[in-house]
Amino acid sequence: YNKNILPNVKIYTNIEYAYSCSKVYKLNTGAEIPALGLGTWQSPDEECFNAVYTALTAGYRHIDTARVYQNEEAVGNAIAKYLKDTDTSRDEIFVTTKLWCTEVQDPKRALTESLKRLKLDYVDLYLMHWPVTMSPTFNELFPKSKDGKSALLIDFNEWNYVNTYKAMQPLIELGLTKAIGISNFNIPKIEYLLSQPDVTVIPACNQVEIHPFLPQQDLIDYCKSKEILVECYSPLGSTGAPLLKNEVIIQLSEKYSVSPACIVISWAIARDTVVLPKSVHDVRIESNLKTIELSSADVAEIDQVSKTTTQRVVNPPWGAEIPAVGLGTWKCTDEEC
Ligand code: NDP
Repeated sequence: YNKNILPNVKIYTNIEYAYSCSKVYKLNTGAEIPALGLGTWQSPDEECFNAVYTALTAGYRHIDTARVYQNEEAVGNAIAKYLKDTDTSRDEIFVTTKLWCTEVQDPKRALTESLKRLKLDYVDLYLMHWPVTMSPTFNELFPKSKDGKSALLIDFNEWNYVNTYKAMQPLIELGLTKAIGISNFNIPKIEYLLSQPDVTVIPACNQVEIHPFLPQQDLIDYCKSKEILVECYSPLGSTGAPLLKNEVIIQLSEKYSVSPACIVISWAIARDTVVLPKSVHDVRIESNLKTIELSSADVAEIDQVSKTTTQRVVNPPWGAEIPAVGLGTWKCTDEEC
């Protein structure tokens, strides 16, 4: 870090001034989690196998998958091959998978099936993918309403994310996961969850969309106050990596002589969040692991990007109740609020 950074160098594709990110955080369970992990959404089986194997070879020690990505088997095969080919042990790799919305009423069965596909005895982190319940089935990922137009959601009073979370808690004692967490939760939902009497395990992480177009500082601050580590998904702006065309990001990449992706990923690391860039291309996978230490002035400049462009890129119909911009209310007294 900070060594060999040449300001004002125009060629930004040269990443030799960046260093493989070895930063780790401590979860509220006491376990360590590498700050940078490989995302695997929209990585089909064969590409995913190569991506995960390449990532592990490059030095990644954190892989993020999910039941709904339909690539747990490929992730598992790549991990198994890497462990066989090297003297790395299972506990050196942090593996996350997620409970899908149709399977929330039986997380034990869902995780057991995920583990079978992953060829693992346990995962390091099991996340509730969305605070949403879809029509329960283990055979279909997106059951549709009668008109075939929308996902079939279950009424909040019938089965909600608190029920799901309570059903996830025993998975730790069963040894199926080292930690549990949440994903796509905003502040009111976390507050509601934590206020429930039978919720005894503080979520280890909240995985949400965060990038310079959607910095979510309020959510990060709130989670920190509750000892919940924030993980940033879609850090490059998801499909096609739109963030990398942003003027501010390009200018900074030229200043530090690194790729635009390196700037965006390093910004997430500077904010003490986990970051999960996805790629299926070897060169990108290898370069995304290399980060730099941005000056605080440059972090602040990237913080301002959302003032001109605010954008939520992952906005499925079942997430429609989460608008792109919400009013923060933390530290508002009752009357002010
Ligand atoms: P990202 O922001 O990681 O962007 C991925 C896109 O950027 C792909 O098109 C990829 O292309 C491209 N890309 C990657 N690296 C580079 C680079 N160095 N230069 C140029 N382009 C690049 O998007 P995701 O939405 O995939 O988010 C990351 C991960 O977060 C997911 O894979 C998943 O694990 C997690 N996630 C979780 C969600 C949740 O609900 N909990 C929702 C969404 C994501 P290519 O692959 O062709 O290289």
